Amino acid sequence: MGLSFRHAVCMAALLSCASPAMARTVPADVVFTNGYIYSVDKKDHVYQALAVKDGHIAYVGSNAKAGRYVGPATQRVDLGGRMMMPGLVDGHMHPLDGGKSLMGCSLDYLALTHDEFSQRVRACTANPALRRANGTLVVHGWFQEAMKPAGVRLTKEDLDRIDPRRPIVVRSTFGHTTLVNSAALRMAGITAATKAPAGGEIVHDAKGQPTGVLEDVAQDLVERVDPPLSADENVQAARASLAAMREQGITGFLDAWALDDDLSSYTALQKSGELTARAHFAPLVEPATGTDVAGNVQRLKAIAAKYDQGPIGVDPGITVRNVKFFMDGVIAAPELTGRVLQPYYVNAGTKDAPNWVPGTSLGPAPYFPPAVLGPLLQGVVQAGFDPHMHADGDGAVHIALDGVQYVREHLPHADFRPAIAHDELVSPADVPRYRPLDAVAVLSFQWEKEGPDTVDAGRDFLGPERAKAMEPAWPLYKAGARIAYGSDWPVDRLNEWFALKVGVTRTNAPEAGEKYSHPLGDAPGLPRPAVVRAITMNSSWELRSDTLTGSLERGKLADLIVLDRNVMQIPAADIANTKVLLTMVGGKVVYNRDGSIALNATTGPAR
Ligand SMILES: [Zn+2]
Repeated sequence: MGLSFRHAVCMAALLSCASPAMARTVPADVVFTNGYIYSVDKKDHVYQALAVKDGHIAYVGSNAKAGRYVGPATQRVDLGGRMMMPGLVDGHMHPLDGGKSLMGCSLDYLALTHDEFSQRVRACTANPALRRANGTLVVHGWFQEAMKPAGVRLTKEDLDRIDPRRPIVVRSTFGHTTLVNSAALRMAGITAATKAPAGGEIVHDAKGQPTGVLEDVAQDLVERVDPPLSADENVQAARASLAAMREQGITGFLDAWALDDDLSSYTALQKSGELTARAHFAPLVEPATGTDVAGNVQRLKAIAAKYDQGPIGVDPGITVRNVKFFMDGVIAAPELTGRVLQPYYVNAGTKDAPNWVPGTSLGPAPYFPPAVLGPLLQGVVQAGFDPHMHADGDGAVHIALDGVQYVREHLPHADFRPAIAHDELVSPADVPRYRPLDAVAVLSFQWEKEGPDTVDAGRDFLGPERAKAMEPAWPLYKAGARIAYGSDWPVDRLNEWFALKVGVTRTNAPEAGEKYSHPLGDAPGLPRPAVVRAITMNSSWELRSDTLTGSLERGKLADLIVLDRNVMQIPAADIANTKVLLTMVGGKVVYNRDGSIALNATTGPAR
């Protein structure tokens, strides 16, 4: 449709027509017409048609002009008015863990009572296929903050009642907490005398015994119990993660804590031609090594030398140009491991008659003290890496911004793209600093709603003022900060379209019930163009692929998706229901939902 007779003749003959330029037009591999093509270019232009040639966008514009690109072998797709947009670029996720969470025993991110939790774990213990080779049962998808009723604390005894003999390891969806039973503690050699590693905590009871709860880096202590997956198992998990990404429309991602397993698994899939998203990796700098700048730089360079595949090409490849740092944990209870500027509140009353008042704790000591962070970031930037800092509480954000400022002052001409991920609390005084420092805020929009993990877990401990200011997407946006999106999968289920909906509405899903039906806080949601830009162009900027991905413009890579509904026009709540019909990466269709998009190879131009 849309081809005028004259264009058709020009195409058929490929001879000179009115303009010599038209005659030189090389036929495209694919031409999409009759679409609502949301480009995310500088002005968010909407076009009708797009042509793909050799993995790149050869043309974006009108139906009529796209006709020039139709040759004898061109596949033509009539979009029938459907929306096309750039492929999603997820600026912060943990894809290998995400893939693992799709395999084995899972609590499915559900809000469970103590009994329901026990029943589900017990059911898993009955299935030998779910155990690791060493007999350990690993349980994923534990939504710790949503346990019912609020405030339930699980300990090793809860798991001992399910299985006293064989190890059980329960991984929280936040990734900051692991719960294990006594058998697992024994196998790991954790006793009352065991010292927690830097950046972690072994939780103890009143008698000084480990409760089975391990926080942050202390989770590494159970590595013997839940040993790393075999190389083959890791590749399986990576494969599962990519399938989930294709379905979501993800064409690029940052692995925001890249271990060697992550790098080698996705590299194996890249070599076998199965890598269907552009893969960016951020190896971790451990807090304990913060003062060893040269050692860290040397190690990071060695990782990059081994895995980075150089400039981005048509086929998805692998980059190692980002580096991960943890500034703190999370501001949600029960962890309260986020570093805050003003003390957490404590209940000075009783459970039934609470009286929340400021306490004394600012959370754990900064994982990287400011005096260590500045020179460390500087060294990493000088070596050509972009720092990606996890900072959840306003104290951690403040330290991260100071670190960026230090580098900007010491290396005024450095081209570096610092990212601060999560930003759940930002002091009003720090909000205007992102833009001049050009620090990109990598937000997880799905957290901007009322729910067990936000209002229930945070409100009391933060106090009323801070609770109202949680998830400051709007103030950051108003202050001109560059906002990118990162799902943090598998912290939450992978559902980018729900996240974008929450980014616009700041409301939970209707299924969450009346209690969580109100928008979070006082600030409005972001305009739709801003949430779409966050997960396309701005995350591409974060990952230094903005000249090649993130928008549908001539010359860029053909990384694009076709949707079953128009997320710019439907009621905002409906954005959550969006299904991706087609995912294309570098001009190659990697996902076609139930074959719903007809790719017709035609023998010639429209007749
Ligand atoms: Zn993360």
